[in-house]
Amino acid sequence: MKTFLILLLTIPFMACCHSENIYKTKLLPQTKIAGDSVRVTWMGTAGLYLSDGETGIYIDPFVSRYGLFKVGFGFSLKPRHQLINKWLSITNGEKAAAVLVSHSHYDHVMDAPGFAQASDALMVGSESTANVARGAGIPEKQIRIIKDREPFSVGKFTATFIKSVHSPALFGKIPWQGTIDQPLIPPVSASAYREGGSYAILIEHPKGTFLHYGSPGIKPGIFEDIAADVVFLSIGGRKDTSSLIKHVLEPLHPKTVIPIHFDDLFGPVDKKVSPLIGVKMDEFWETMSDQEDAFEVKTLPIGEAVVLFP
Ligand SMILES: [Zn+2]
Repeated sequence: MKTFLILLLTIPFMACCHSENIYKTKLLPQTKIAGDSVRVTWMGTAGLYLSDGETGIYIDPFVSRYGLFKVGFGFSLKPRHQLINKWLSITNGEKAAAVLVSHSHYDHVMDAPGFAQASDALMVGSESTANVARGAGIPEKQIRIIKDREPFSVGKFTATFIKSVHSPALFGKIPWQGTIDQPLIPPVSASAYREGGSYAILIEHPKGTFLHYGSPGIKPGIFEDIAADVVFLSIGGRKDTSSLIKHVLEPLHPKTVIPIHFDDLFGPVDKKVSPLIGVKMDEFWETMSDQEDAFEVKTLPIGEAVVLFP
């Protein structure tokens, strides 16, 4: 109940149509997809499907969206398999090899077992994420619990989870902290999906490197020894863009920054991207525009593959 009231109080900060127009003008151009190019499909929120034509990887795939009312009032929720099955078509018949999960809040992990089960993919994340996998009946051999900064290979991709911190969301607080210590069997309330520790995920490929920051908390120094061509930056719950520039983007020194997780996760996933309540998109675009000598900011269409590294 408390969470719901807090969420309601954030409604007046809803971003306006101006931001939506900027989003459209910054769309990453769609070029012809060559067989071995690294391409990415945005699934809304922090969800991505990544492929080099040989190996497919999901990161934080989440399509079972529920309305604010059900989330806030603690209704029991479960993955919507009809929607998951619909979204499986974005792989174009490829069999995904892995599903990576940045942290175990419901909007990052809830559907991960469904996507993993559809292609016998490895489900990868924290111990809490492993308990979500176990609750869905995924066998141990199909679960990988990550260690901080221990790289592992999936096809030509190398993934490294970097221990970070969750960004503050509700009045400066991190929602639903703690761990999931037992197999989590849905239906359960959104609050049952405890954070379980948050990670930035570095993905390296011979064609390029990118960082997925599913919940960009500020932890100074963690990116000092890393570089990335592209940063996928979740900006829902973000506190201020200047800190992100200083502690995340300046050390990583990307050419391109792609904002994600700013769309309304309480409404259906569709091509019309409505901003999430509480996300100050205008402030984000304004602050980022001062940085155009340092990096370009691009956006992605929802549900369409775009070439990331040709
Ligand atoms: Zn979260």
